[in-house]
Amino acid sequence: MPTFAELGLPAPVVAALAERGFEAPFPIQAATWPDALAGRDLLGRGQTGSGKTLAFGLAVLARLAGGRRTPQRPRGLVLVPTRELAQQVDEALVPFAAVLGLRTTVVVGGLSFAKQAADLRRGVDLVVATPGRLTDHVQQRTIDLGDISVTALDEADRMADMGFLPQVRAILDRTPADGQRLLFSATLDGAVGALVTRYLTDPVTRSVAPPTGSVTTMEHHLLHVDGEAKQQVVAEIAARDGRTILFVRTKHGADKLVKRLRRDGIVAGALHGGKAQNARTRAIEAFRSGSVPVLVATDVAARGIHVDDVGLVVHVDPPADPKDYLHRAGRTARAGENGVVVTLVTPEERHDVDRMTRQAGIRPARAEAVPGGAELVRITGAREPSGVPLAPPAPAAPPQRSRRPQRPGGNRRRRAA
Ligand code: AMP
Repeated sequence: MPTFAELGLPAPVVAALAERGFEAPFPIQAATWPDALAGRDLLGRGQTGSGKTLAFGLAVLARLAGGRRTPQRPRGLVLVPTRELAQQVDEALVPFAAVLGLRTTVVVGGLSFAKQAADLRRGVDLVVATPGRLTDHVQQRTIDLGDISVTALDEADRMADMGFLPQVRAILDRTPADGQRLLFSATLDGAVGALVTRYLTDPVTRSVAPPTGSVTTMEHHLLHVDGEAKQQVVAEIAARDGRTILFVRTKHGADKLVKRLRRDGIVAGALHGGKAQNARTRAIEAFRSGSVPVLVATDVAARGIHVDDVGLVVHVDPPADPKDYLHRAGRTARAGENGVVVTLVTPEERHDVDRMTRQAGIRPARAEAVPGGAELVRITGAREPSGVPLAPPAPAAPPQRSRRPQRPGGNRRRRAA
């Protein structure tokens, strides 16, 4: 493997990499830096965990180094599908931008537009953005994309899935046509393929599997627990580090569990169909941002939510059927990540759960879980909760009325769980 310096990275970046303990480039980096640093358009296929953020990020920074900063006219642009990813990419790049004398800013929804506008006015070299908010800035003329010399699109397939491509195209149309473009995506078919054809010029394609050890794995565990100890076991699991989703059967059960966890000092929020849509969105956002690391959810409400980096899914109440088991489990171990799925099983539930896991085609490991138990800690990272009660969650928005008049053809909303 060539060294960072041999691949053409600027000396200050090489030094900063060494300082942070990065010893050698990852394959995707070695495969992409020479072409990207030479100014070529690039099509990269690499998953989360492969090191793709620095692959495109350091290339973009190196291309911008030494240039002039002009208010409201950044020269580099990174587009990503979600706020969280934008923050993550920016955090990964800031130290390297700093050693090159470059300034970056994040332009995403949910944060103050005015502050972003002020940052842009002061002048930044690189903007890391989601398509929606960037479009707002373009329309408000708080940003001008006419000087963008290099654009990176990360997770282009997810941007397509989320319906962002029209905005992405409109944004690219406002950047100079001869600018350099780097596009990363897990898949290159359909809409992403069309984007590549239209906006990339004679791109080199580099496709690299994640380094071993970062392939997606999902572990399944049944934890046998005594009915009386269950609440304490749930609290200890919820007190672990990292994002956790706890599944329960009913809305009432979800609210009750959130209250109990908060009494134990655990920051938890509920996600169920009894909440108004904006309350649900807020709950998901808080979970996604990490401010509320524990989400207590019912099945229907949690379907289709995509949050990266959920390390543990817990069936507090066993799922109704194998399909629900798999849906719940699918909230963890997303691309390139590892995930653990735990089902708490009381003696009376044992028979049903065994049948259900068999039908789901799962071969779970089994263990006994007792409060503070070594197995519980090993599998889930359980910890003793602080026990210092938190204030109750913000007052819930009024619940949706359960009996609404049926308009013919209207109200196709799925019934709330
Ligand atoms: P990514 O695929 O961009 O999300 O990166 C996955 C992880 O690998 C991040 O935590 C990076 O900090 C880390 N990483 C990226 N490049 C290297 C490298 N050359 N050596 C060691 N770690 C790296």
